[in-house]
Amino acid sequence: MTPDRDITVQEVGPRDGLQATDIIMPTQAKIAWIKALAAAGMPQIQVGSFVPPKLMPQLADTAELVAEAKKIGGFSISVLVPNLRGAQNAIAAGADQINFVMSASEPHNLNNVRKTREQSLEEFAGIVAARNDTPGAEHIRVSGGLATCFGCTIQGTVPEADVFHYAEQLKALGADKIGLADTVGYGNPAQVKRVYRHVVDMADDLPVGAHFHDTRGLGLANCFAAFEAGATTLDGAQGGLGGCPYAPGATGNVVTEDLVFMLESMGVRTGINLDLLLEARAVMASHLGDEPTHGTFVKAGVPKGFTPATAI
Ligand SMILES: [Zn+2]
Repeated sequence: MTPDRDITVQEVGPRDGLQATDIIMPTQAKIAWIKALAAAGMPQIQVGSFVPPKLMPQLADTAELVAEAKKIGGFSISVLVPNLRGAQNAIAAGADQINFVMSASEPHNLNNVRKTREQSLEEFAGIVAARNDTPGAEHIRVSGGLATCFGCTIQGTVPEADVFHYAEQLKALGADKIGLADTVGYGNPAQVKRVYRHVVDMADDLPVGAHFHDTRGLGLANCFAAFEAGATTLDGAQGGLGGCPYAPGATGNVVTEDLVFMLESMGVRTGINLDLLLEARAVMASHLGDEPTHGTFVKAGVPKGFTPATAI
């Protein structure tokens, strides 16, 4: 990791959180939120996704957000892309990290991006080539991500062998990082530990990311299991934004504030200031309207005698 932190927490609220809501947060409000996150020491922020604005009007301002995020500075700017076209836009915009995502589940991938998993691998190879062939883009990290690693709403159980196979393929095609996601909140900590142990071992010196949803209350436990097994990046969304479109009111992503509190209380340095993180949450919440937020740390605050691992 870096001298001042033991793990990288990535805030995905501006992307995963907002894409699951009907709210179109004004660009200026997103910038204020991203600024507040940067001030709290958030090391990586997923500011948006390069998908057709028709499909996801909530994220139509991603290029502008990357440009604004570069002016703020101090954190790694990541964006999600489903295909080569999105990656080309991300490279042109100047993102630091391109997070490609395909599904470990074949029917989910077909449903989501209308491609077989093999076709998605070809797309990923094209993305790595585009990065390599673009002058000045050498520093951009390309992450190979797998959704539905721990279960799928269409297929149900997703064989672990499929997760291992496609993670290995992404590595072989030149991924700088492997990401596993529990897109629908089906995973349990024992399964997570087992899968991560295998993938971390296979990934060798590549960082391995973890992305959990708290749909059934196991988000933090799954983060802990992934961390114990060697995951080096943990995703969260402020206020647990990102609920499931098929389960109204359901919890969304792991709550960033709760995740950072857990890590800091364990003695794991995130480089993030919890007080300022709550201020960033307040900035976000002021633009959310009636959208429900989640989380327990915001309600209870720090315990008496608490010392964060990150020196402030
Ligand atoms: Zn997600």
